[in-house]
Amino acid sequence: MKYIIATARSPFSHDRIEGKDVIRQNIGGVATGLKRLMQTSGGIWVCWGDGTLDHEHSFEDYDGYKIARITLGKNEKRGFYDDYSNGTLWPLFHYFRDKIKTDNRSYHDYYSVNKKFAETILKYYEPSNIIWVHDYQLSLVPGMIKKARPEAFVTTTWHIPWVAGEFFAILPESAEIQESLSSSDLISFHTDLYTRNFIETQEQIFGSASNIKSRVVAIPLGIDDQYYSSVGKDEKPRKQKDNRKIIFSVDRLDYTKGLKNRILAIDLLLHKHPELEGKFSYIMMVTPSRTTVSDYVAMKRDLEMNIGRVNGKYGNIDWMPIVYMYRKVSDAALKANYRNAEVALITPLMDGLNLVSKEFVAASRDGVLVLSRFAGSSYDLQSALLVNPYNIVEMADNIYAALFMDQEERKRRLADLKATVSKKNVAWWLGRIEKEITKRWVGDTFSTSGLVDN
Ligand code: UDP
Repeated sequence: MKYIIATARSPFSHDRIEGKDVIRQNIGGVATGLKRLMQTSGGIWVCWGDGTLDHEHSFEDYDGYKIARITLGKNEKRGFYDDYSNGTLWPLFHYFRDKIKTDNRSYHDYYSVNKKFAETILKYYEPSNIIWVHDYQLSLVPGMIKKARPEAFVTTTWHIPWVAGEFFAILPESAEIQESLSSSDLISFHTDLYTRNFIETQEQIFGSASNIKSRVVAIPLGIDDQYYSSVGKDEKPRKQKDNRKIIFSVDRLDYTKGLKNRILAIDLLLHKHPELEGKFSYIMMVTPSRTTVSDYVAMKRDLEMNIGRVNGKYGNIDWMPIVYMYRKVSDAALKANYRNAEVALITPLMDGLNLVSKEFVAASRDGVLVLSRFAGSSYDLQSALLVNPYNIVEMADNIYAALFMDQEERKRRLADLKATVSKKNVAWWLGRIEKEITKRWVGDTFSTSGLVDN
């Protein structure tokens, strides 16, 4: 048994930078987990080749598996990726009603790109394959495959939240998307809430959900905990100037991440506790993301203005409360930052899971996690200080509590969190999905990748 995996983004891409041909790795946590599966099991990874030289590598053998890349034209990319995936579905599934753009043309591109993915998968499909489709960019692919090959086993993993049925109904294409996803043999989400919402949506659109209940499961994605808990060879604990405590966060620049509310919370914290002047630094790392989507450009300006305002209000020549860095960071650099932080401030307004919170827990020695209740990871990370990211007072108070939490409580909370993160790690996630496939697979044989035994 081999997998055919389909994701919008590729595990790595080929680019030319300053005249040199380079390979750019995709650094997200999902890609890391899937790479590990493909290296062990082999198979084919179908993806969009978005690198400038990817069209020269439309099919390649790499690290024990094969990659089939789909090339998209400029307009097709805009309609499929920028407009429909990130301008319509992304805000819809994160409850940002005002940002949802609905236009027929972008759906047309989305449909035709999904068709390209389905056709590429079917081109390589053999009856012993499991087809594993990922995320909101490819929601029509399961239905297209099942229509062409009803006997093919299709499993779908949805990595972002699933909203309440009446909210999903805003989408003109809601029935098509629901019908496609529910034709999968197995559908996994990251929390029980999303599975309940999905089942409820099915009932609202089709009158009954009895045919899908047994195919919908909640299995939260985990991280490579050993990687994050191990100390890098060259890593040295950073000395803090004047014993300043470090508050740390890293996020893509996205309106779902609640970045501005964090700045407002720091503002309020310093207003309520002027004695904290010079006592901490909030290191806010923000990674460029979806830079061609117009909402993101305006959001960056607003965020930076607020950071400037708060630094101007409380800072002095020797100290600024917020150290803001807008750039991509390697996972090794992130690991060192996680370890050096007394507090991680991870407060998205809505997040399907949030891997950063789990990475911080694995890497930290005695840090405190301040985590949004609306991050999918909060279901498992109950020993964090859980906050409502819309409640600025609650956030400011919890940052204060985190900064001054006594050693015993820090240790107890972190030990609880570490136990969960290492138990439900990425190998556990893959193993659980394979177990669910085994229960439902009626093909000849199903041999798991053997990545995990529980
Ligand atoms: N990440 C990284 N470098 C960066 C920013 C993020 O390696 O500059 C990684 C981070 O370690 C994590 C992933 O990207 O594994 C972000 O995943 P998360 O679920 O937290 O948020 P998403 O970006 O998927 O919404």
